[in-house]
Amino acid sequence: MKLYSTNNKDLRVSFKEAVFNSMPQDKGLYMPVEIPQLDTEFIQNIEQYSLPEIAYKVASTLLKEEIPAEDLKALINDAINFDAPAVQLDGKTFVLELFHGPSLAFKDFGARFMSRVMSYFLKDGEQLLDVLVATSGDTGGAVALGFLGVPNTRVTILYPEGKVSPIQELQLTTNGENIRAIEVKGTFDDCQALVKQAFADDELNAKFRLTSANSINISRLIPQTFYYFNTYAQLKKQGFKDVIFSVPSGNFGNIGAGLLAYKLGLPVKQFIAATNVNDTVPRFLESGIYETRPSTQTYSNAMDVGAPSNWVRIMDLFDQDVEALKKVVTSYRFTDDETLEGIKEIDSKLHYVACPHTAIAYLAIEKYRNENPADSSAAVFLSTAHACKFPDIFPSEIAAKIEIPAQVKTLESKPKHADQLDVGFEGFKEYLLKG
Ligand SMILES: *Cc1c(COP(=O)(O)O)cnc(C)c1O
Repeated sequence: MKLYSTNNKDLRVSFKEAVFNSMPQDKGLYMPVEIPQLDTEFIQNIEQYSLPEIAYKVASTLLKEEIPAEDLKALINDAINFDAPAVQLDGKTFVLELFHGPSLAFKDFGARFMSRVMSYFLKDGEQLLDVLVATSGDTGGAVALGFLGVPNTRVTILYPEGKVSPIQELQLTTNGENIRAIEVKGTFDDCQALVKQAFADDELNAKFRLTSANSINISRLIPQTFYYFNTYAQLKKQGFKDVIFSVPSGNFGNIGAGLLAYKLGLPVKQFIAATNVNDTVPRFLESGIYETRPSTQTYSNAMDVGAPSNWVRIMDLFDQDVEALKKVVTSYRFTDDETLEGIKEIDSKLHYVACPHTAIAYLAIEKYRNENPADSSAAVFLSTAHACKFPDIFPSEIAAKIEIPAQVKTLESKPKHADQLDVGFEGFKEYLLKG
């Protein structure tokens, strides 16, 4: 597998290089030069395979000889060790639960696969890989839990004091082992500035092998294709042929992976990109004008993105052909009031408690069905996080129905530890140099 940069079509790097660089120097994003087709026989018989088998088939088709078969199988079995069930809510409506991993959010797929790929590519005796992450909540938890116990790696997570939810704080601060948490007396932007300064610091770079484990890393995108194939397999087994996916979108990595799956040969009738009022993409598909804006805070805060970083990848997948893209992707936006109504409707009509991100994907399916009454496809809305991560959003009678998963109970019994720092870089640098 060779990759190019979306800013330079002539660049060629290996998968390993793309994984460790995260981002090309020209600030584009890495994309595969060639998108091979999965063989039709596999797709026709896909319902016979398990999630890890499907994951191996997809990953090996894409990666080719980059990781030998037995190593790739072991890596996938270790990374994707939880389920992604498509739960039927009524005749043709399914919720794809992507929150059964350790951080209770779909980012576990990307983080767990990336951590193991990085560890795999580190040669024996090579310098420890130091991952520095600033987080406002969810990404940090997935990265911390994704790297927990992975050999040859160490993670340092910076989070703003008092600004992450109790469950998120537990996920950041109860790990121990190779994970360190730093509570910064400042904002998320302060945390991000500290990490940026560390990456630019000569002395730190000379002493440590630093990486960002950034969310745009190509090794996070690839494993997110697995569950689209696996969902298709689950629906096919039940006799459904036509499938549409509705994806709650912020940086558009999740739906980008779905569209990559589509280009690899997954038969999908329609994708719906569901956003909150941070609606750069729906506006673009309506007007043809791509205009980013500063982000606005909403209930679905993991989707509060005004400049979706993966959008350039999606445009490249469709060779910049907006008309071709619009045949496959529809996009709708929803306000916080609508999100809350959606949560109530899913509860009353479908007897299901959905997190605010998930509720937006549900609303988008309802809207699509209203606008396309002739389309009788099975519709899957992706649930990107467990409802218990957002307790403050729900009316109390719905909140009472949320079951706290075992993962959280385990964390609650562990001691919390975070080091405290203020926003000055010298303090952070000293902390890192101490090792
Ligand atoms: C990250 C996240 C999203 C948005 O996913 P993108 O890949 O950035 O579009 C949606 N929901 C939850 C819960 C998330 O954590």
